Amino acid sequence: MKNYHYAIFSIVALAALSSCSPKGPYALTNKVYTSKTDSVVRVIEQTQPPMLVDSAGANIPGEWVGTVNFNLRKPNYVIIHFTAQDSIQQTLKTFTLVKPQVSAHYVVAKDGKVYHMLNDYLRAWHAGISRWGSISDMNSCSIGIEIDNNGHEPFNDTQVKSLLALLTQLKKAYGIPTSNFIGHQDIAPLRKPDPGPFFPWKLLAEKGFGYWRDYLLELPPDSFDYATALKLMGYDTRDLTAAVVAFKRHFVQTDETPTMTQFDLNILYNVYKKY
Ligand SMILES: [Zn+2]
Repeated sequence: MKNYHYAIFSIVALAALSSCSPKGPYALTNKVYTSKTDSVVRVIEQTQPPMLVDSAGANIPGEWVGTVNFNLRKPNYVIIHFTAQDSIQQTLKTFTLVKPQVSAHYVVAKDGKVYHMLNDYLRAWHAGISRWGSISDMNSCSIGIEIDNNGHEPFNDTQVKSLLALLTQLKKAYGIPTSNFIGHQDIAPLRKPDPGPFFPWKLLAEKGFGYWRDYLLELPPDSFDYATALKLMGYDTRDLTAAVVAFKRHFVQTDETPTMTQFDLNILYNVYKKY
């Protein structure tokens, strides 16, 4: 009988909770989210023939014939960020305001809670002007993950544990290659310092997300050109100094000076071959 009462109480409590949730702090922005996804659906439902003109301005004939074989495009990269903000509430607020024009798919709080803010198949606005290899629109091919961290503090174990669980799920769901787990600093070396030298890239690499240097490093040959190696990895080397600093923030971490020491060269020679 006692259990029965408890069950009734639980159902009533659950009902009360769920009827409260539409009035939560994000009820309004969740509504906007739904209407925006509705507009995305309307875009992909359009069935228009191509409207093309030749160099003389004459119309080229076209017709719409829908294929029956397709599915959604998948994200192929994961870009990791720190929020550079003081609290998770501040970040959730920033990503639900129109004015800042920024967002991410996921935010990982300090207590390990993972906030999902955008369907993985949709394009978040987290990378900004960036480049990796020949890709100049990273937002279109990546999942953005923000870690609640002000940029001057270590990432705590609970948070990293949640991040690893999230990465495991994403890698499996979309077949994301090991090399394609990188940081904002890697794709925007002139603009962005995140996730910075505190980020546990070594641990991530051990779990299959990104690469890290081997324990034993060999000397690169005399012909080794570090600018070419950085470029082959994916770095935008149009500003070589910025690329060197970005590389060191990720793969050296103990030193971010803009010069390549012998140690840095050994590390680069070791890791670039993995990418
Ligand atoms: Zn960032």
